[in-house]
Amino acid sequence: MTSLHETALVWLRDDLRLDDNPALTAAAALGLPLTVVYVLDEESAGIRPLGGATRWWLHHSLQALSSALEARGSRLVLRRGPAGQVIKEVAAQTGAAHLFWNRRYGQPERNIDAALKAWAGESGLEASSFQANLLFEPWTVRTGSGGPYKVFTPFWRACLAGQEVRDPLEPPAVIPGPPQPGRLQAGDDLDNWRLLPSSPDWSGGLAATWTPGEEGAHHRLDDFLDGPAGEYGTGRNLPGTEGTSRLSPHLRFGEISPFRVWHGIRRRYPQKVPADVGIFRSELGWREFCWQLLYNNPELATRNYRPEFDRFAWQQPGRSELEAWQQGRTGYPLVDAGMRQLWQTGWMHNRVRMAAASFLVKNLLTDWRVGEEWFWNTLVDADAASNPANWQWVAGSGADASPYYRIFNPVTQSKKFDAGGRFLREFVPELADLDNKSIHEPWKTGVPDYPEPLVELPESRERALAAYQQLKDG
Ligand code: FAD
Repeated sequence: MTSLHETALVWLRDDLRLDDNPALTAAAALGLPLTVVYVLDEESAGIRPLGGATRWWLHHSLQALSSALEARGSRLVLRRGPAGQVIKEVAAQTGAAHLFWNRRYGQPERNIDAALKAWAGESGLEASSFQANLLFEPWTVRTGSGGPYKVFTPFWRACLAGQEVRDPLEPPAVIPGPPQPGRLQAGDDLDNWRLLPSSPDWSGGLAATWTPGEEGAHHRLDDFLDGPAGEYGTGRNLPGTEGTSRLSPHLRFGEISPFRVWHGIRRRYPQKVPADVGIFRSELGWREFCWQLLYNNPELATRNYRPEFDRFAWQQPGRSELEAWQQGRTGYPLVDAGMRQLWQTGWMHNRVRMAAASFLVKNLLTDWRVGEEWFWNTLVDADAASNPANWQWVAGSGADASPYYRIFNPVTQSKKFDAGGRFLREFVPELADLDNKSIHEPWKTGVPDYPEPLVELPESRERALAAYQQLKDG
């Protein structure tokens, strides 16, 4: 039973969409005046502040969401501060008797949500939470002995064998407007959050590459399924082509739901999913795997998953070495093209991420946390689970990690996956005039504006192998 003066509140977080948003749908279905709120929380204990590129994305994503809500007679209320406290205040101001949100899986976020749920219970409010951002919630996928999975393949097999992936929900047909004006103090102005870079504004390349928001996300999915998905098995390895979906920042901010992606594939291929598209679908599984790792290892971004790595002899990188890596001036074209792609567009191709990360961690023997932090600040898809899990995978300190002796050779990788040098030419224009052979090893020709290799590959490889061997020998 609801009373005449009751209202409802839905708190949106990394689920900045109207489509397949179970919390929003359930809140709207009550038919009560509805407050839709987003809180920028940089204060609660343990919350990792966003990096520069994700701040840029968030600004535009909130703008898109706000317009979509206004088009339906609703509006987005923005607040800033410790989220638990802010939500209590907004609930009190609006007379909310019902709170709704979609679940989160990081420890600090879960602490906030659990405390809020407890408070709601004590205060006579009804709080309801939903599964929206992961296909399989971490606590539902367990090994035979009840523990979490440490290896991807059995994890994903267990996911697929154990549960059906529910159908996505359509956006709510009607979203009730907010409570009477006056009950809710005005929200913040998005511009005042200063999420966009200024002096200098380095976001031109990001704006030229991306369309943050739900509409942009759905276009990406459609374009991908209509095109490159059919050859994903090969295309995903070629950084010079658009062979992957580029959905990662949209998934990161929940502008599209993984359920929508999953069923988008199923609808297109109701009989049998082709092998290439199946490989793409299992990449969504890696995302799930990373999140279950974070759920079970809340300190994944700061602590070695395999504790023996606490003894690893990382070298303190020299400032100029680190800057050369960050700025794409290592003298190795594939690494440099990737690092410049990251700086210009906020995204880097997965194969190149692996090569660039391996170069930092293995050839320069730099602690993976240094690279993780740089990616955190520069990626538009910087994700609390996928970023540290993948860095630890490259370093060998993580779950299901790359073996220590696997050291990506950036020259071999570049010859194999960018044979025609298309990717290298796009991001390292100094090399554009070299032929397809020389472009992978420019030091053999000598290019005036391009640096000499920062380290020798065979030597630095031997150094890395020795350090890893030392760890193994205890
Ligand atoms: P597609 O190939 O089209 O894959 C579809 C989706 O599957 C992606 O959007 C992503 O959500 C998921 N996915 C694919 N590969 C992985 C993977 N290895 N781990 C987890 N999820 C995956 N991905 C992030 O989303 N955020 C990060 O912060 C991030 N940091 C990384 C750091 C390193 C060092 C490495 C090696 C990889 C990292 N990845 C990260 C994984 C991967 O590189 C990106 O997800 C992928 O390149 C995104 O491009 P896409 O959307 O075109 O991927």
